[in-house]
Amino acid sequence: MSKQSLDRILQSQGFGTRKWCRELISDGEVTVNGEKVTDYRASFDTEGLSFTIFDETWEYRQNVYLALNKPPGYECSRKPSHHPGVLTLLPEQFTWREVQPVGRLDHDTTGLLLMSDDGAFIHAQSSPKRHVPKLYVADTDAPVTDELVEKLLSGVQLHDEPAPLAAQFCRRLDERRLEIVLEQGKYHQVKRMLAAAGNHCQALRRTKIGQLELDSLDLEEGEWCYLDAQQLALLS
Ligand code: URA
Repeated sequence: MSKQSLDRILQSQGFGTRKWCRELISDGEVTVNGEKVTDYRASFDTEGLSFTIFDETWEYRQNVYLALNKPPGYECSRKPSHHPGVLTLLPEQFTWREVQPVGRLDHDTTGLLLMSDDGAFIHAQSSPKRHVPKLYVADTDAPVTDELVEKLLSGVQLHDEPAPLAAQFCRRLDERRLEIVLEQGKYHQVKRMLAAAGNHCQALRRTKIGQLELDSLDLEEGEWCYLDAQQLALLS
C-alpha cells in the first residue's frame, strides 16, 4: 500500500507543478473516490484510486502504456521540427508525464504506435535484440510482382547496412499493395527496402506489433487507448 498526499499524487499523474496542483485542490476542482477534497495534504492510498478534475475522471496509474492510431502528418518526436508532434494528440498530462513514442514512425506513416512513460519498457521494446515482428501494409507505385516479393523475402542491400535485410514475411494483397513483416526497426526501412527492390512506397501503415493488432483496439485515426496487461503481453 502506498499513501501519498493529494498534491503529490496529482503532480505524479501529470496535472502540473505541485503549486498548480495545490491550487486546483484548494479551489475545489478535485474529487477523490467521489468526494470533494480541498486539503492538498490529505493522503490517499494510490491503489485503485480514482479522482475527478474539472469533471473528468482519471485512475491513478504508476506508469502509462498507450496505443495510438497515428494519423499522417505527425512527427514521433518530443521536439518536432516540421509537423506537429504525436503528443499533441494526447491529453496534456501525458506530456507532463514525459510520455514518449516507443520507436518511430515517419511523419507520413500511419497506424499502430506505442507510447509510454516507463523508460525500462521503452528501452526493452526498442532493443534491436528483441526482434519483435512488426506488420506493415504498403501501397506501391508500381505493381507488386512475384519477383518483388521474392526479393524482399530473400534480402535487399541498403547502402548503409553491412548485410542485406530480409522481410520475415511478405505477400501481395492487391495489384499495388503488399503486406510485409520486419523484425528490425531501421530508419525508413520499409520504404528503403521497397526502393532497393525496384518499387516505391506511396503510403505505409503499421497494423500489428508482436501479436497486438491495431484492429483489435478499435481506434479511429488520431484516437488512443490504454493498454492492459493482457495486451502488453502480446507485444513480446
Ligand atoms: N519503415 C518505414 O519506411 N517507415 C516507417 O515509418 C516505418 C517503417
